[in-house]
Amino acid sequence: MSLKVKNISKSYGAQKALKGVSFAIQKGEIVGFLGPNGAGKSTMMKILTTYSKADDGEAYVNEFDVNSQSRQVQKSIGYLPEHNPLYKDMYVKEYLAFNAEVYKTSKSRIPTVIEQTGLGGEAHKKIGALSKGYQQRVGLASALLHDPDVLILDEPTTGLDPNQLIEIRKLIKHISKEKTILLSTHIMKEVEAVCDRVLIINEGVLVADKKLADLREENEQIIEVEFDYRVEEAFLNKLPHVLKVENTGGFVYEITFGTSKDMRSVVFDFAHDNQLKTLQLSRKNKNLESLFTELTAT
Ligand code: ADP
Repeated sequence: MSLKVKNISKSYGAQKALKGVSFAIQKGEIVGFLGPNGAGKSTMMKILTTYSKADDGEAYVNEFDVNSQSRQVQKSIGYLPEHNPLYKDMYVKEYLAFNAEVYKTSKSRIPTVIEQTGLGGEAHKKIGALSKGYQQRVGLASALLHDPDVLILDEPTTGLDPNQLIEIRKLIKHISKEKTILLSTHIMKEVEAVCDRVLIINEGVLVADKKLADLREENEQIIEVEFDYRVEEAFLNKLPHVLKVENTGGFVYEITFGTSKDMRSVVFDFAHDNQLKTLQLSRKNKNLESLFTELTAT
């Protein structure tokens, strides 16, 4: 097991940031740690990287105890904090050499991490001259210097523009071929784009632990349909397996069915039988977004 967390709790004064959180991550997984702001994501990441101590519970990285084996834990883990301190006046290579010294690791891997993070063309520049996306690559390169098995990335795409965001996600996915990754985010699309599995945390409590593939096959589907005329919702509610009907504007309806059977033809036949025209019809899976909203609603 690359990461194992058992009943971790942590308070800041009266503020309970984590309330008995447990999970385990296997070698090679890329797991999203998803939750609204203030949910406890950074707190958990700081505990796993030994920057902070839990009040209660146990956590292990590569079977090393974060409390009693912090040096081994640090060797096993690469950390990209949310506000990564970069020295803007330093050249990329100089910064990596500086970090290698600070973290007492060999400088021999600098060319490798520059290559791994696609920094080749920018490596001779000052960090301040790089775009935010490339600055984030420098942070990643630094986290990879000691070739850790596990990477902990705290909100790695915050502040990036859409193109940079896509590039960094691609890079993370690429790196994940060789590493175990725990990545925190409050963006659901990020999890869908890069992760195999999602842990959802809300107010310090783990509220979901799901494989993305299972989520896609959830026994619930939403059909979005547009008719050419208004339909009484009660009428649509009589369709088989209906859980919920919502008029989302104009003559557009979102119908939630509790079945894995494709219900599009049933809705189409319903329209036909009632002399309605179907202007558009599409099927959506109950997705991560609705799960997240459901589980983190206050
Ligand atoms: P997230 O990373 O999910 O946004 P955090 O782990 O940063 O959440 O915060 C969890 C809770 O703990 C929040 O209520 C936050 O205000 C509180 N908190 C975090 N760090 C500190 C701190 N150093 N002192 C006091 N409260 C803190």
